[in-house]
Amino acid sequence: MARYTGPVCKLCRREGQKLFLKGAKCYTEKCPVERRAYPPGQHGPAQARRRKQSDYALQLREKQKVKRMYGLQERQFRNLFSSAASQQGVTGENLLVHLETRLDNVIFRLGFAVSRNQARQLVRHRHVQVNGKVVDIPSYEVRPGDDIAIRAASKEIEPVEVALDSRTRPKMVEWLTLDQKNRVARVVRKPTRDDISAEIQEQLIVELYSK
Ligand code: SF4
Repeated sequence: MARYTGPVCKLCRREGQKLFLKGAKCYTEKCPVERRAYPPGQHGPAQARRRKQSDYALQLREKQKVKRMYGLQERQFRNLFSSAASQQGVTGENLLVHLETRLDNVIFRLGFAVSRNQARQLVRHRHVQVNGKVVDIPSYEVRPGDDIAIRAASKEIEPVEVALDSRTRPKMVEWLTLDQKNRVARVVRKPTRDDISAEIQEQLIVELYSK
């Protein structure tokens, strides 16, 4: 299925939560989730008042929310889930660790991009290096000890400058260190569930895919 290219704020309103898909606007009071806290469309306000959702609806919405937050398509998300389920440990947490360690998410977390979407573009356009080599695969998963950098020729490109100067950057996570001046960073350890502050009920996703 093709990637969604419509208005992204609709996706946040549909999920009833900020997914931070648009950059600086997400951190201001102009965010539509704050101004119109009901689903988009003619029947949105009525849907917000509707009675309790079924278990299946809750599970489906949680999966859609996380998928949209990280900008994945259904097939990619399901493959990631299969990989998480085949590993030792708690499947839901494994899934979140897979999502967090994707290179596009790491670039966003480091503040080199204002959104995951922009981070994905930076990676695809070959502005990012891992351990000294250009990596142009957004789904590449970083590991402890990896050095992430913006390529020398791209260190001062506008999107990176704007993102790093932005006062609305996401809070820096503890499993990454950043040398902002030189645009280099290091993965100091694997992220854990406690490092992921977004409101996610991963167990609902596990229940959905385990049916
Ligand atoms: Fe739009 Fe960002 Fe608000 Fe989502 S969080 S509704 S993308 S401004």
